[in-house]
Amino acid sequence: MKVNNAEIVISAVSQKQYPGDRLPEIALAGRSNVGKSSFINKLINRKNLARTSSKPGKTQTLNFYKINEAFYFVDVPGYGYAKVSKKEREKWGGMMEEYFQTRETLKAVVLITDVRHEPTRDDIQMYDFLKHFDLPVIIVATKLDKVPKNKRAQHLKRTKNTFELGPEDYLLPFSSETGEGKEEAWGLLKQFL
Ligand code: GDP
Repeated sequence: MKVNNAEIVISAVSQKQYPGDRLPEIALAGRSNVGKSSFINKLINRKNLARTSSKPGKTQTLNFYKINEAFYFVDVPGYGYAKVSKKEREKWGGMMEEYFQTRETLKAVVLITDVRHEPTRDDIQMYDFLKHFDLPVIIVATKLDKVPKNKRAQHLKRTKNTFELGPEDYLLPFSSETGEGKEEAWGLLKQFL
């Protein structure tokens, strides 16, 4: 995919702010600091459109990026950051529920995990939450460059098993550092757009 145009359209906190032009949409979710912004930036060939977070858990908005005037990437605020208050967590939950439940143009969700580690309880909760809304999920196992080549298959298998992925789900090895998996990611995303 050649990205000629990528721009942030809105940082939304509620439904009435979501773009209304009915373009198809792919959401991206993941634990704070997992590498979500790096994934988006790698895919669209930008250094810093999606801001890489210096303060995990800070961005509590749904960021809509319009790509090639054709579809949206929606950057979902990160989860699993310990220092977030109960009130903040509840606010986050409400915002997620409103979005995933009502967004008709949402085609699939990319859930980013760190291939070095077993998916956390938060990751699994997020996966189950998405499945509850019958959304197709693409698990992106990022930071692949940090795992030695002879250990990668083992790590990927653990990711797949811990999530208990279904036949309708995808698991994609990826590295924002080397660009591995980038073409495959676009190939998959295109199926949903
Ligand atoms: P976010 O909070 O999920 O948006 O995470 P960021 O994209 O800001 O990434 C968090 C940190 O992980 C940053 O220091 C990135 O440079 C680093 N990072 C992200 N993806 C990769 C990757 O594929 N490989 C390596 N080696 N580092 C990565």
